Amino acid sequence: MPPMGGPRGANYLTEEEKKNRPKVTKELLIRIFSYMKPYWKQFGLVLIAILFSAILTLLPSVLTGRIIDEGLIARSMKALVKYIVLSLAVTLGANIIGILESYLNTWIAQHITFDMRNAMYLHLQKMSQRFFTTNNQGDIITRMTSDISGVQQIITNTLTSIISNVITLVVALVVMFRENWLLALLGVVIVPLFTIPTRTAGKTRWTITRESQACSDEINSILNETMSVSGQLLVKLFGMEKKEYDRYEDVNRRMIDLNIRESMAGRWFRMALSTFSSVGPMLIYLVGGIIMMKYDSTITVGQISVLVALLGRMYGPVNQLLNIQVDWIRSMAMFTRIFEYYDMPVEIENAPMAVTPGKADGEVTFEHVSFHYDPEREILKDINFKLEKGKCIAIVGPSGSGKSTLINLIPRLYDVCGGKVSFDGIDVRSLDLAFLRRNIGIVSQETYLFNGTVRDNLLYAKPDATEEELIEACKQANIYDFIQNQEDGLDTVVGNRGLKLSGGEKQRISIARILLKDPVLMIFDEATSALDSISEQKIQDAIEPLIATRTSILIAHRLSTILAADEILVVKDGEIVEKGSHEELIKQNGVYTQLYETQFSKAVKTEDKFDYTEGEDQE
Ligand code: ATP
Repeated sequence: MPPMGGPRGANYLTEEEKKNRPKVTKELLIRIFSYMKPYWKQFGLVLIAILFSAILTLLPSVLTGRIIDEGLIARSMKALVKYIVLSLAVTLGANIIGILESYLNTWIAQHITFDMRNAMYLHLQKMSQRFFTTNNQGDIITRMTSDISGVQQIITNTLTSIISNVITLVVALVVMFRENWLLALLGVVIVPLFTIPTRTAGKTRWTITRESQACSDEINSILNETMSVSGQLLVKLFGMEKKEYDRYEDVNRRMIDLNIRESMAGRWFRMALSTFSSVGPMLIYLVGGIIMMKYDSTITVGQISVLVALLGRMYGPVNQLLNIQVDWIRSMAMFTRIFEYYDMPVEIENAPMAVTPGKADGEVTFEHVSFHYDPEREILKDINFKLEKGKCIAIVGPSGSGKSTLINLIPRLYDVCGGKVSFDGIDVRSLDLAFLRRNIGIVSQETYLFNGTVRDNLLYAKPDATEEELIEACKQANIYDFIQNQEDGLDTVVGNRGLKLSGGEKQRISIARILLKDPVLMIFDEATSALDSISEQKIQDAIEPLIATRTSILIAHRLSTILAADEILVVKDGEIVEKGSHEELIKQNGVYTQLYETQFSKAVKTEDKFDYTEGEDQE
């Protein structure tokens, strides 16, 4: 029976698949083969198993002829019992070998996909921030899961099915021609006819399946959009419940229609198949009978039965081989897609002779640094500054001026496009990446907590931290009181991405996490989001001792944070336009003063917040 499941198993290529046929080159095949090479011994065993199982599966059909001719017609009890026992033994043997074959097959396929998945994960881990911001997360996950699972499917189904079908066909044909060449010839003409109903019925069903796949994608996307925390919020706040319900109901209705049609197409298909599979044998009986009665009396009843039985066995392999091209194209496309990811160059990696200094001071120097995400648009231009050991620099500037981009260059989340960023006097590109990142701690605007407990999230920074260390870090980060008030304490579950916590709580946990990491250089990207003054004060209290004892850079939005710094850099449109202490900058009466007067005088009345967004939306 042809595989008739979802679109992957269907027997027809979509227009898109036809258009994007992968180029099958020698290199591609060699590359695919290289993943199978480590398992060549197991592959050899599978081949032997397939060969034996194909022969043994066909043998009972041949023995049926002997049962009829030598047992029943010759009225020999001995021969009858002998062939029946033999036939049963052979079937048992074939089944046992079949089990062995499928075990080996699955084993190989699982191991190859295991290797590919791990290699892909390792590779993706090395990809730069640019890769993750450019590529859709869904795409990455699909390649990691569906595409690689598809490979497993290819090995267990496509590859072995080609081999086993060819062997079965060859063996069946040899036996048929040996039994009676004329009837065998008739069989060869009839067998392809068997596949006609399958293909036609399959086509109808495939069209419906594709439609229902599109429908189910639509349902998934509606659910994804509207059943997520932020999606639901949007729906509620904009009062779109009715509209979203109608949209959902509409596709859901289309889906049931398609499901009903699909199930009925299956019925017709099975009916056509069973009709045709009984027509074939009848034809052999008819023609065989005519030959036996009118032309060639040496043909025996047994021979005719053998041919009928063998024909039945040939139907599946012929059909599958006719459809193998589709599987083949799909498999190649899948491999091509996977290799596309493997071939993406690793943008940021350790230099061949990377330096690992013994100790770090956390000094940072920017010399004529320029940077762009897109060559058309320069984001940072000729940035120069030096952060000395133990000092603190505050970076201020309007939203979108390039502050976050600037700090991302220090731990090499991106590499500079021009100039040089040094850490302790060494170009960051020459330093050992692990060393560099170990010595830098970033508390970013977007606090990311893994779904787990507070403890899990803290231990991420220091897996061997003792209970005392955890508590101490929480106390310093001003989050201990909150944790103590929770029923489960440190084992409180933070929810999906920490959504069960408030913004301020999340940020304080991430400060505790950085305290446990204990980096030499602290980078704090202050959240622009509005926190109440109590939360803000708590965060302020948490970061003050942090920066007092370390070399640090703050992207500051609040006056109190700015005042804590030794030097202030004012960034505007990707350039440092002013530099100095708060007093010096105020005296300069430039951009800083302007921002201070227009924004701060307003913010100070409410919550001591220095808002630089110059009228833009603050998140
Ligand atoms: P804010 O204070 O609002 O966080 P910022 O000063 O930190 O702003 P950046 O986040 O550094 O600003 O962004 C600087 C500019 O670079 C923005 O115009 C932004 O649109 C662009 N940008 C940021 N990240 C990317 C990215 N991954 N790809 C392309 N452009 C980006």
